[in-house]
Amino acid sequence: MDYNKYIEIVKDYPKEGISFKDITPLMNDGKAFKSAVDEIVEFAKEKKIDIVVGPEARGFIVGCPVSYALEVGFAPVRKEGKLPREVIKVDYGLEYGQNVLTIHKDAIKPGQRVLITDDLLATGGTIEATIKLVEQLGGIVVGCAFLVELGYLDGLEKLKNYDVLTLLSYK
Ligand code: 5GP
Repeated sequence: MDYNKYIEIVKDYPKEGISFKDITPLMNDGKAFKSAVDEIVEFAKEKKIDIVVGPEARGFIVGCPVSYALEVGFAPVRKEGKLPREVIKVDYGLEYGQNVLTIHKDAIKPGQRVLITDDLLATGGTIEATIKLVEQLGGIVVGCAFLVELGYLDGLEKLKNYDVLTLLSYK
């Protein structure tokens, strides 16, 4: 399916100069959303996934239906202070400043095969931090799947050692 018409481009959001790709129209359309989830499930099927991991908040939207379809669990990656039990954390650079992402220490068992999902790959900072968390817990990242990739940033370069699926790319 061509998902182009389901992505709304919002100029100067969240700040001037940024052209935000809004994925909510895609989620709003049952057939388009199902098709996108099905494509990710197909990509993941042969990989013998044990668990899906996604960063907040839109990584949950993509990852949870995939984990349901594959009958595997889902582990959330969240900003500092949001997960209630013992976590490990990783700092990563944003365009301006630093951010911290965390995962529960017992969310992944060593050797588990992990699919990482998010809505959009931009610079790759968020996904790189998520991969670090998974690998620190001994998980094996066997794939990363996104609805959208911004080809004019170098996100894919950061993921060159991983198997990546993107459903739509902006040049
Ligand atoms: P990165 O860390 O790759 O630079 O940014 C990706 C993260 O920021 C993702 O978690 C994504 O949800 C969010 N993000 C950055 N830009 C956009 C955008 O244009 N549209 C959407 N939907 N999310 C974005």
